[in-house]
Amino acid sequence: MLQKPEPLRTIGSYWEASVPVVKQDRQLIGNALFDVAVIGAGFAGLSAALKLAQAGVSVCVLESEHVGYGASGRNGGFCCLGGTKLDERQLIRKFGLEEARRFVAYQVAGINLVRHRLETWGVDADCHSNGEIYLAHRPKDLSDLKAHAAFLKESFGIRAGILNKDELESQGYGGPDFHGGLHMPYGFALNPMKYVLALAAKVRAAGGKIFGKSAVSAVSRDGDRWRMETEHGFVRAKTVILAGNGYAREDAPKWLHGRTLPVMSSVQVTRPLSDAELSAQGWTSETMAADTRILLHYFRLLPDRRFLFGTRGGIFENAASLSAMHNRARADFKAMFPAWAGVETEYSWYGHVCLSRNLLPFVGPVPKMEGVYAAMGWHGSGVAMASISGEKLAGLILGNLRPEDLPLPLQKPFARFPVAAFRKLYLQGAYWYYGYKDR
Ligand SMILES: Cc1cc2nc3c(=O)[nH]c(=O)nc-3n(C[C@H](O)[C@H](O)[C@H](O)COP(=O)(O)OP(=O)(O)OC[C@H]3O[C@@H](n4cnc5c(N)ncnc54)[C@H](O)[C@@H]3O)c2cc1C
Repeated sequence: MLQKPEPLRTIGSYWEASVPVVKQDRQLIGNALFDVAVIGAGFAGLSAALKLAQAGVSVCVLESEHVGYGASGRNGGFCCLGGTKLDERQLIRKFGLEEARRFVAYQVAGINLVRHRLETWGVDADCHSNGEIYLAHRPKDLSDLKAHAAFLKESFGIRAGILNKDELESQGYGGPDFHGGLHMPYGFALNPMKYVLALAAKVRAAGGKIFGKSAVSAVSRDGDRWRMETEHGFVRAKTVILAGNGYAREDAPKWLHGRTLPVMSSVQVTRPLSDAELSAQGWTSETMAADTRILLHYFRLLPDRRFLFGTRGGIFENAASLSAMHNRARADFKAMFPAWAGVETEYSWYGHVCLSRNLLPFVGPVPKMEGVYAAMGWHGSGVAMASISGEKLAGLILGNLRPEDLPLPLQKPFARFPVAAFRKLYLQGAYWYYGYKDR
């Protein structure tokens, strides 16, 4: 059933370079029977597999490439609130205050789960940052941040701090584009590759099986089980977890067709900056940061003094578009951190996040596919959300939880995008519109 591991498909990320080795699990060769098969070895799939394996369930994870090949090994490492493109006011309007509160509490629990895992597993994932700061990119945005802080306190009991421009500069958040800030007292930063590799190691240690280079090309009914087809074999399982997120194939299973929108996000990491360079820019803070643009930039000073700078990607993945994406991100970086305009970018990569039509994640049973569950759609903030949601999904499968025990915003199965073939065009239109609004 097994053969020697195939070579690793790398993307040239700083995270890959920061770990001694990324393990290539063996490919599935032949046929295998498991209670549960998970499609996708990222935070969501592995978190579900870990919980199930620890409960004594026979579980395998089928992964197209290797652990962390998807967004979980490519992200900015902000373990923070989020998971939806709806803001808190929209959540309240749609679901009511109590459900919105439950959803925010769930996000906080996700952050705490990741922190707890790293601490109890003794994993040094290069963590830093106490909370996250949102930086007003226009003077007028500071008053919006102040109003938002008051709203967060009143509605959610969140005590967000406000900093004016002088306070930002004195606390090491210097930049011509930053006119004030809101400090959110939740979250921390980590090296996502170290976290996802540790998570996979725990799955293996608990008895879960991970197959690399085993892309699932079809999911079909086979008696009382589901059958997952891969290149050199198949797995039959009573229960299936869809955890492919922005890398999910639309035909495995067919239910996924037209229901997700993969969107690119890109990251650049500079060479290490000297003390003189840091003070020339006035940026010395280790707090993770993002600006207030709708098409936001996210950035942080890494523990080794490199600077990580992330922003949205383009629409298409051909060489010309990717090069344009890289150049645009680099131009934004130079404009926001002019003192570092000559500092080389040593690593540059991108990955897929997953959007849904209602701009919310889905965690639960897939309609009309008994035994099939999904945990996907984190809208670019999945370090904490995918981790806790994978674990909760395992709780549903084990019978420890009911779908209605989850916050309401997570419960609705993804709807199809209208005229799904035009999804990328909608995205292009949204980028133009939001780019205009961000000015
Ligand atoms: C550049 C970038 C920066 C980001 N920054 C942040 C951040 O700072 N903070 C934050 O919270 N979130 C961030 N995110 C989002 C976050 O990384 C994701 O939401 C999260 O990692 C998703 O985890 P997941 O397990 O759901 O999916 P993924 O990690 O994407 O894993 C899905 C896996 O499924 C596999 N797969 C898919 N289909 C199949 C199939 N048919 N057969 C077999 N395998 C399959 C893929 O190969 C992949 O490995 C970022 C994402 C990107 C791309």
